[in-house]
Amino acid sequence: MGQITPSMLVVSAHAADFVWRAGGAIAVHAQKGYFVKVVCLSFGERGESAKMWRKAGMDLAQVKAARRQEARKAAEILGVSDIEFFDLGDYPLRVPDEALFRLVEIYREVRPAFVLAHSREDIYNCDHPLATHVAQEARIIAQAHGHTPEKPVIGAPPVFLFEPHQPEQCNWKPDVLLDITSVWEKKRQAFETMAAQEHLWEYYTRVALQRGAQAARNSEKNIQYGEGYMRVFPHVTEVLA
Ligand SMILES: [Zn+2]
Repeated sequence: MGQITPSMLVVSAHAADFVWRAGGAIAVHAQKGYFVKVVCLSFGERGESAKMWRKAGMDLAQVKAARRQEARKAAEILGVSDIEFFDLGDYPLRVPDEALFRLVEIYREVRPAFVLAHSREDIYNCDHPLATHVAQEARIIAQAHGHTPEKPVIGAPPVFLFEPHQPEQCNWKPDVLLDITSVWEKKRQAFETMAAQEHLWEYYTRVALQRGAQAARNSEKNIQYGEGYMRVFPHVTEVLA
């Protein structure tokens, strides 16, 4: 038997969220050979596609198709191994048990070394915390021996919450800073495929520079671009540093 490929799972409420918020982490781990699975619960067709809706004759099917295409393209640039769209609708996102159990199945198939999801609070967006609730619930069910006992349970993959648009209002504080300098060009290229949200390109470049400066300040490393994450579970280790 060959070496086991490590894997990671990203749960994104809308089609583009994983690109802005976790694109660096995805590209870094993809480059290291991780199998990267992304689940998009919706396309962000109603709430996160404002520019497309300004075009005459636009309808939901066209917006969804365009956002799917953009997300696929961005995923390819970042090195995502597999992207799955649940198409549950947004604004509001609603998650039926069927989708929850599909996510449980994904946990058991992918067996992620870690999981990325949204902040647990977001007063500007109810879909984001719901996505995280579902990601957490699916993780717990995937650990339960009594759920589909014929398939092996998963361990305890750490969960990291990516940065919301307005961190202070979402009670989100970074306790992990990831160096994404080596993949920054890929992230920038990936989010530039998000034509519907061009107004965010410069914003997320500033965020990356800010987190990069903080990462450099908290280490002895020469880091230019970074991504911040908030841990959900305690960090388990044999030595402290
Ligand atoms: Zn979103």
